[in-house]
Amino acid sequence: MENNQEKKQTVLSLIQPTGTPTLGNYLGALKNWKNMSDGYDCFFGVADLHSITVRPNPADLRRRTTEMYALLLALGLDPHKNTVFVQSHVPAHAQLAWILDCYTQFGEASRMTQFKDKSEKHPDNVNVGLFAYPVLMASDILLYQTDFVPIGIDQKQHLEITRNIADRFNGLYGNTFKLPEPFIGKSGAKIMSLQEPTKKMSKSDTNPKAYISVLDDDNTIMKKIKSAVTDSEARVYRKDGKDGVNNLMGIYSCCTGKTDEEIEKEFDGKGYGDFKTAVGEAVCDELRPLREEYNRLISDKAYLTECMKEGAEKASYTAERTLRKAMKKVGFLQI
Ligand code: ATP
Ligand code: MG
Repeated sequence: MENNQEKKQTVLSLIQPTGTPTLGNYLGALKNWKNMSDGYDCFFGVADLHSITVRPNPADLRRRTTEMYALLLALGLDPHKNTVFVQSHVPAHAQLAWILDCYTQFGEASRMTQFKDKSEKHPDNVNVGLFAYPVLMASDILLYQTDFVPIGIDQKQHLEITRNIADRFNGLYGNTFKLPEPFIGKSGAKIMSLQEPTKKMSKSDTNPKAYISVLDDDNTIMKKIKSAVTDSEARVYRKDGKDGVNNLMGIYSCCTGKTDEEIEKEFDGKGYGDFKTAVGEAVCDELRPLREEYNRLISDKAYLTECMKEGAEKASYTAERTLRKAMKKVGFLQI
């Protein structure tokens, strides 16, 4: 007999409340979240546990957690159909992370490039949490028996270590965790800094001209795109080494759906001025509806709290099933 009620595959992804998301977060991850939210059983969340590796001011962390949550709803995620939650509201994340810490080798965690990059950025605070970050991320993913994780390319290595940890645990104790696959969108996979286009755009960058925040107004967006670093050739086409132009072409393509060929044709014989105006306008059009919906939601704290509670309850239900299974396998006494 045909089964029309076939269970949907599971998608999970989290974002840290370390600042307002950038155009990079949006095109690399968040836009895919929205695209996947209908066809999959989705868990999306605010990774506040992860964000304390850089010791934010407590009041800032609280405010940013609420803001990031509102932004997820502003994307159009349905908090009743999808599960939209705050990581620290689901204790199973930290509990499984401890268990998996004991099944992760020091050597393999030391190879993570994000750990190396972030230790260099914050040499005065290279804490054990920063080192164990990928294990907490593995717990986030494995708790939900996740099939796909929509991420930017910078997180691919963390997905590989997640698979290795899960595989090792399954090998020792029998099938416990599903092995997840990364879902990396094509053109938005890595949006680069507007000021140093060989580095990825990051919301924690100290130079605000380097990134576009998804809440920047039209005027600010136009200014930032106009001052983006390019080159002296004044010709719009893709080529290795033309990092600034390649990046703007990628952004334009993500916002308009146009291919590289179409973009090259459109700006044939025109300079960077026309090109940047078009890119800026496309970005403004893409982000405007998100910003308007965010401004509406952020003033309704009661609604946000209600949704957070529902999200925490739904996420805990699934997460605890996996946690109990893992605890039993390891040999913790059940009472
Ligand atoms: P931080 O600098 O605090 O690490 P971040 O901008 O890297 O901030 P994260 O919260 O670490 O943001 O990542 C959220 C999601 O956005 C992840 O899936 C990540 O892969 C994706 N992402 C981050 N930066 C980019 C980028 N420049 N281009 C495409 N995707 C990105
Ligand atoms: Mg990051």
